[in-house]
Parts: sequence; C-alpha cells; structure tokens
Amino acid sequence: MNTKPILLAFLLIILLSFFELYAQTPHFIWPEGKKMAVSLTFDDARDSNLEQGLPLFDEYGVKATFFIVPSSVERNLEAWKKAAKNGHEMGNHTVEHPCSGNFVWARHKALENYTLGKMERELLDANKWIEENLDTKVMVFAYPCGQPYVGAGLYQESYVPLVARHFLAGRNWLSEAPVDPFYGDMGLLNGMEMDNKTFEELLPQITAAKENAQWLVLAGHDIGEGGRQTTTTKMLRQLIEYAQQEENGIWLAPMGEVAEYVRTTRESTADTVNIPTLIRPESNGRILLTAENGRGVGPRIEYMPDWKAFGWFTGKDQVEWEVDVPSSGRYLAVMEWSVSDKEAGKPFVFENQGQRIEGIVKPSGSWETFKTKAIGEMRLRKGYNKLVFKPKEDFGSEGALLDLKEIILQPIR
Ligand SMILES: [Zn+2]
Repeated sequence: MNTKPILLAFLLIILLSFFELYAQTPHFIWPEGKKMAVSLTFDDARDSNLEQGLPLFDEYGVKATFFIVPSSVERNLEAWKKAAKNGHEMGNHTVEHPCSGNFVWARHKALENYTLGKMERELLDANKWIEENLDTKVMVFAYPCGQPYVGAGLYQESYVPLVARHFLAGRNWLSEAPVDPFYGDMGLLNGMEMDNKTFEELLPQITAAKENAQWLVLAGHDIGEGGRQTTTTKMLRQLIEYAQQEENGIWLAPMGEVAEYVRTTRESTADTVNIPTLIRPESNGRILLTAENGRGVGPRIEYMPDWKAFGWFTGKDQVEWEVDVPSSGRYLAVMEWSVSDKEAGKPFVFENQGQRIEGIVKPSGSWETFKTKAIGEMRLRKGYNKLVFKPKEDFGSEGALLDLKEIILQPIR
C-alpha cells in the first residue's frame, strides 16, 4: 500500500490546524504557567489598611499596593515605613487628592481649576515625599476619584500623558473591565471596585479575566468588616485563599510588579504578535507598516508568527493599517515580501483613501526568501490615514497572493 498520500494529507491537516491556531487573538503568557494576574490596591492610606490589612496580608504572605497621600501617612509614619520595608508597594495618589468640584469637599482643590503644570508639580512633590519619608521608589499612580483630567470645557486636558511620563503605570477607578495586557493603556489601567463586594460577586469577573488571560486590578479603600468604601476582610481571605490554590492559576502580585512584567513581555513579543495599532512615524520620519501592527480583514488572511508576515490565500483578503501623521507629505513605499515562482505574477493594489499604487507581485525565489523593493509613491494627509494592501483582482480561493512582511514609507524630502 502506498502510504504517501495519507501522510501528505495528515501533514496538511497539521499545517492547517497550525494556521487556525494563530488566526486567533494572541494569548498573553503569564509567568510560571499562570492564567491571569490579580493586584490588590488600596487608596488614600486609610488607617484601617495598617490595622486590618497588614496583619491579614502578612498571614498569607501577600503583598499589596497602597496609593497614599502624605497627610494621611503622617498620622502613622513609622507603621507605613515598616509596611514599605516589608515589601508592600507604595504608590502616588497626589498630595492634595484633587477631584471635581462636584464633590463638595473638593471645592478648594477642584480639578476644574487645575492646570497640567500644577498637576505635574504635585505629582513630583508626592513622589519626592514618598521616596524621602518611606525610603522606597515610586513606580505607580492612582487617579484620585478616577478623574484623569484638569481644567474644564475648552480648557479641559487629560493628564494621562503626565502619568505616562513619570510612572510605570497609572490606575483608574470604577472601571468595568479587567486590563488586557496587550491593549491596556499603562497610563490609565482599568481599576475595578472591590469595596463592599462579596467574593461571590467578584468570582465571575475573575473567571472571565482568566478565560482571556487578563489582569484584574482591584481597587478599594478601607479594610474591615464592612461600612462605607470598605473592602471586607472576609472577601479578602476568600480571594487570597482562592488565588493561592495552585490549580486556579492566579498570579497575585502588586500592581508595579505585574506592570513591569507586562511592559517587558509586550516589548519582547512585539515582533511576533499581531496587535493592530495606530501607527505614528519613527523619530527619523519613516513609517513602518508591519505585519504585526496591521489588521487582517478577509476570509483566510493569516498572520504567521514564524515568518513575521501576513499570508494571503483568497482574493478577498486584505490588510489595513491606520496611520496618524503630524503633517502631510510624500513617501516612497518599499515592500518586503516572498512568493513562490508558481504563485508569483498576480496584480496587487496598495491604496490610501482614493490614491493607489498598482503593481505585480514579482517572484522572490521561494516562500522562504524575502525580497525588498520600492513599489511607488504615496501621499499621506495630515492626521488620520487608512492604508490598504489587497489583490487587484479576485483570484478565487485557490492559490496565494504573497507573504507580506512589511511596507516601509520613507519620507521624500
Ligand atoms: Zn482616593
């Protein structure tokens, strides 16, 4: 019996399932086989954090993140110093705790009357105070009242960029979803409320976050049996015991530690994971339209991490890139691709809102050999542009167009 066809069919099935696998949204890899991360964070340096929280965390060997304001810490400076020395993370929560003047208690420090300059000074003052008084470096921030803006109306501005500049991560409050480690903005991480929640109420969020390999940053205030803005010791015990059961696959760690892991993992996987991203020019003016930052649209378009390229298998497949440029300009488009001699020769179109470059996919030698060549000139308008690469004609569902690694737009001066 000739086993060759069967073997070939078998190989094909393996190959197809491989492509299927990578067509899905990439799954974030947490350390040591964990399935998700949880961070416990508490705002305002309330006394109950020291009295009720620290003994409980010590009992389980858990480290939490405390977003503190100096005036509250001063009431128990030695105890807070000890907590920091003990490995709990101390984060910045500003000096004055400014919030919207809609909170009557915040009228004299209303965000509506703040400016970015005033906020930046305050952020740096709080960092300096924490570093001098608690002898620890500040990496993380939490927005008071979860309000990431200063000013009002025509003069309202986000201060997320300030937080992004001075901190590893900033946390919001009363968010409705966990942090996705591939997409979440480090300058404004979702923070989900755990005050006055039972473990049973939080469990569905944990389960959902686990399914998507996400990061649940829980935020609370007081710690105790119950009361206003209080995370209950009962829920904390149940949550920690659940997290510490190996089979539940939870990495329980302070916000800064997880943020650092997410940052470095994003960097190290950036060229093998397809995450469509708004693209901006590099400092030298070049714009890199890569397979990693493009969006595949179509029935069979595939991002192939082993080749760091998109593969085209039908005439309806296309890749789109969204680009934001500070000024309009002309660019030379340089394409890097591969194609077998058999599949070469099909016409392609590269277009940007009405303008188009047309060409023929020239042979590169083989699917394994990538070639680089200028394909034409493209004008980008100031602001948002959407660029699309696709076959010029529908070649049906047989064959392939090319494997496309990258199109570099080089400014023409
Ligand atoms: Zn607060």
